[in-house]
Amino acid sequence: MYKVAIIEKIHSDGLEFLKKKNNFDFDVIDDVSEENLIKVLPNYDACTLRVSKLDSNILKHCKKLKVISRHGVGFDNVDTNFLKESGITLLITATANARAVAEHVIYMMLTISKGFNIYDNEVRKGNFKSNSNKITTYELFKKNILIFGFGRIGKILAELCKAFEMKIKIYDPYIDKKIIENLGYKKIDDYNEEIKNSDYISLHLPLKKDTKNLINFDIMKNMKKNSIIINTSRGGIVNENDLNKALNEKLIFGAGLDVFEKEPILNDNPLIKNKRVLLSPHTATFTEECKSRMSIETVKNIVDFFSNKINKSMVVKLWFL
Ligand code: NAD
Repeated sequence: MYKVAIIEKIHSDGLEFLKKKNNFDFDVIDDVSEENLIKVLPNYDACTLRVSKLDSNILKHCKKLKVISRHGVGFDNVDTNFLKESGITLLITATANARAVAEHVIYMMLTISKGFNIYDNEVRKGNFKSNSNKITTYELFKKNILIFGFGRIGKILAELCKAFEMKIKIYDPYIDKKIIENLGYKKIDDYNEEIKNSDYISLHLPLKKDTKNLINFDIMKNMKKNSIIINTSRGGIVNENDLNKALNEKLIFGAGLDVFEKEPILNDNPLIKNKRVLLSPHTATFTEECKSRMSIETVKNIVDFFSNKINKSMVVKLWFL
């Protein structure tokens, strides 16, 4: 019998899936304090993980633990160096959430381009059309979009953008030009030049040393005045202070953020008061469909791992990090 710790509650569909597996027993762990995890986690062969932190302080006590299954694809909350040394496998829900995130990007692009809730407020205030000429809105039709990162999410986003006949440019140095061009997109080698033509930029790459502050004031000051930045990847890839400044100076039209340098976002973050930015609380994957898919994939990955059937796209290649 394998014992699985469900660290932080997941959608009930995943728990129902696991209940039907004879060789697996599980407990939901709500108290994610370091103290409690050090106490209870050593009893388990596997665990799921949402946003709580699993660092070496906790993991060094978990001698039975063979596998950690992330509910999501990012894994900056796990000490990957410790996993490498101790031989613990790290799994991700590689196929479950890309669609929801890509749709969230389209929602943000449309919402910002169409003037947030301005028209809605105007109608409710009784200003039927009286201010309409003062409100600037845009279409996505035939606009240039530069997508940073052509992985699971970037690919689906590009497909969705086709419906608006957008001109799709991809910056991803790790993807072969032919793959991108065969799909009808343009591969960009120098994003510093391309951002001067872009109406939208959307980020779909991991947070690493070379991607931290990738989108900074030097980039923003060269962007078009109508341009919109969307970040649903990781906080810190877009520099928040620079973004606030660029929006206030009207160097760019707007921005949509689902992720932040500090989460939860701090109350004194100036972006909270900035009306030119659309915010969501790291909830791009929180559709009912995606929550169900992610919960099932998270626990199925553990079952597949112990049955030696795990799909290799779900396994993080720790030795490449
Ligand atoms: P993925 O691994 O499938 O794709 C990432 C792509 O980024 C790869 O193609 C890689 O070649 C490329 N890349 C890496 N370094 C780069 C660089 N310096 N410049 C340009 N491209 C680079 O990942 P994914 O599933 O598409 O996820 C993308 C990002 O979105 C990750 O940061 C992930 O953590 C984040 N994410 C956020 C949410 C959310 O809830 N907002 C949900 C899922 C994923």
